[in-house]
Amino acid sequence: MSRFLNVIPVAEAVATVIRISPEPVKEMIPVESSVGRILAAAVTADTDIPGFDRSVVDGYAVRAADTAGAGDAIPALLHCTGRIAMGRQDAKISVGPGTCAYIPTGGVLPAGADAIVMVEYTEDASDTVLVKKAASHGENVLLRDEDFKKGKTVFFAGRQITPQDAGVLAACGCASVPVAKKPIVGIISTGNELVPVTMIPGPGQVRDANASMIAAYLTEYGCVPRLYGIILDEREAFEAILTRALPECDVVLLSGGSSKDERDMTAAVIAAMGEVLVHGIAIAPGKPTIIGRIAEKPVFGLPGHPASAFVVLIAIVRPLLDRMLGLSRSIQRTQRATIAVNIPSQRGREEYVRVRLENGVATPLFGKSGLLNTLIRSDGLTRIPAGAEGLEQGSVVEVILW
Ligand code: AMP
Ligand code: MG
Repeated sequence: MSRFLNVIPVAEAVATVIRISPEPVKEMIPVESSVGRILAAAVTADTDIPGFDRSVVDGYAVRAADTAGAGDAIPALLHCTGRIAMGRQDAKISVGPGTCAYIPTGGVLPAGADAIVMVEYTEDASDTVLVKKAASHGENVLLRDEDFKKGKTVFFAGRQITPQDAGVLAACGCASVPVAKKPIVGIISTGNELVPVTMIPGPGQVRDANASMIAAYLTEYGCVPRLYGIILDEREAFEAILTRALPECDVVLLSGGSSKDERDMTAAVIAAMGEVLVHGIAIAPGKPTIIGRIAEKPVFGLPGHPASAFVVLIAIVRPLLDRMLGLSRSIQRTQRATIAVNIPSQRGREEYVRVRLENGVATPLFGKSGLLNTLIRSDGLTRIPAGAEGLEQGSVVEVILW
């Protein structure tokens, strides 16, 4: 076996990821717990909303023509025929020429009326109401299908549900909402040097940072992470853990051991149990990345360095999550920013530079590979395309926010 990786461009790697991505699976969940989830089907209004012509103010339902020219000096005098009750249509109350009816906010517009005068512009004189402002036809009235029309699409599939959406979904009669099932993603940390978070590392040992970081990202991205702990760089350990994890997960991520050192087991084990589709991507950091498939399930080998693992998670694994969630557009947050200084880059690989953001200006944070501190001192990543020799000071870029 060659000691060198056969790297492919990021776009090709992402295309492979999309090709092997499982379809979203739909499930129904209660609308009140749907926030953050991704709609898996379009939703239409099952009735006209509001469903009746409705007052948007407290006031008097009138015929607009009866108020023409009314003002403080010369109010229109209208005979009040009654008070509209909330929550029902009162057939007994109607508004004819020269009359009006009191109507509260949300009340059903009575027959004959075509506008509402706000109570602030009226004066009550027993059965007569003084209207001190002219109303125009339709003023302060919400028409029966003005908000949403029966049968019309209110939401399209692929949208992340906001709290406001939940309100509109409820108004549309969706007690339960079709959403994409959260993908279950297995996380396996590999490396003889790794120790659990609870241990004090001895010389040469490091705490497993990746599992927690990857799990946290996945949780935030609407997936269910499933942690399988740390395994040694031994073939049997890899096979045993993958045999356990695969039936329980939709996707499996291994971190560490993804390169071509003799200790690096991931590629050989994936090849033996399934197939390796990509081994090596023209991305920095993150070149030694594996995309494979075992029993129809995507399996990734991420580089061990936490910063590299994180970049690959965002740049390569995220498109898979987007597909599995059925997202119409990625929910990864981004922000446009101006580059503070020239950032050189090596042609031929797509580079992801950690940047700090301040008032719309992105300053790169350079540091030796393998540092954890740049992950928390930075606000996100900016991408330098493979064909570019760098980013020029003053150019405007999209920053992928952490
Ligand atoms: P590897 O990709 O296995 O060659 O590992 C590259 C570097 O990342 C090594 O310094 C490892 O100790 C470190 N590393 C690997 N896995 C983890 C992990 N889960 N948490 C923190 N560091 C790790
Ligand atoms: Mg290793």
